[in-house]
Amino acid sequence: MAVAVAVVAAGAATVILRPRSGLIDPATIDPRAYFSEAELRRAEDFRGVQRLIGVGSLAISGATLALLAVRPPATARRLLERLGQKPLRGGALVAAGISVTLTVTAIPLSVWAHERAVDYGLSTQSLGPWFADMGKSAAIGAVIAAIGGAVGLALIRRFPTRWWIPAGAVVTGFAVLVLYLSPVLIDPLFNRFEPLRPGELRSDVLRLADRAGVDVGEVYRVDASRRTTAINAYVGGLGNTKRVVLYDNLIDDYPGEQVRSVVAHELGHVKHSDVPRGLLWVAIVALPGMLLVQRLTEAMGARSGRPAALPALALSLGLVSFGLTCAGNALSRPVEARADSYALELTGDPDAFIALERSLTLRNLGDPDPPAVFQTLFGTHPTTAERIGVGEAVRGGGG
Ligand SMILES: [Zn+2]
Repeated sequence: MAVAVAVVAAGAATVILRPRSGLIDPATIDPRAYFSEAELRRAEDFRGVQRLIGVGSLAISGATLALLAVRPPATARRLLERLGQKPLRGGALVAAGISVTLTVTAIPLSVWAHERAVDYGLSTQSLGPWFADMGKSAAIGAVIAAIGGAVGLALIRRFPTRWWIPAGAVVTGFAVLVLYLSPVLIDPLFNRFEPLRPGELRSDVLRLADRAGVDVGEVYRVDASRRTTAINAYVGGLGNTKRVVLYDNLIDDYPGEQVRSVVAHELGHVKHSDVPRGLLWVAIVALPGMLLVQRLTEAMGARSGRPAALPALALSLGLVSFGLTCAGNALSRPVEARADSYALELTGDPDAFIALERSLTLRNLGDPDPPAVFQTLFGTHPTTAERIGVGEAVRGGGG
């Protein structure tokens, strides 16, 4: 029953929030007309193994949580019993411990994935600074898990049969908070952000925003080059932390008309309120999602508000959020496709758009045409082949 409710809610949320207009139908293209045999092989060599590493990491996290939930080692069991005396403080400690354990068990595969990215020239980070980043992320993850563990147990103790309702509200509130605070609290721990200085690019961005009729908030340049050669841009924040962020690699290495294509895509997200749209999606699926989490946790025999219930709760949360993330990707792809269509409309420059997609895929070692099952489950954007196809449709249509 709970599974059915969650599936229907996720499906309904995705359908309700899907863009209904402004999507250009892509022309069918053959990636071999845009990429050489050698380029396609190199991307496939890199991405093929990275994908397997990703699936392996998921499997290891799942197995670790399952082991802790179903058959915890004797030392862990004794620890859980001892911490059970002080449920909330114990809950915070256990949740932080689970978070750190998951990071540690993932290290070998993460190091492998990183070393491959270095070998292929995608990552510019040596192992030392990379581990420092990982340590920072793990610390942030542990703090959030600790708060989540304590709050979770408090809710279970206060509302033993219906804790999924307040938990769903907490999840939504937390998503709003993270979105609002990340740009000012978390992101600066990893990168330096500078507002675009007055100049050609800044005037360009403001002119485009003016034509689009949107308030972009602030536009920042981020020093992504300290870690990667990849190209990217994104919209983040909420309300007065709203911003467009452009990678320095993009600004420094790309011709003006291609940077304009990227900026126009991001303006498309602002224009269509895609960040609040994402939050609304979370708000819709959070309650049925937490109902399923509660039922799964109880099905694993964890009904008490004691720290010993946390491994089962974490496993349920992991399973449900994995399923919901895949469902959310089915919303993300058309949302991204519409931002592309909007960019083409705003710039009227399909040549620059196609050149950008080609160069971006090469530079980021993306697979232009990934296996359908991976694209369906994990693809947050249309494939490069589809994106170039939209550019071609505009070009062919007399654009
Ligand atoms: Zn986008």
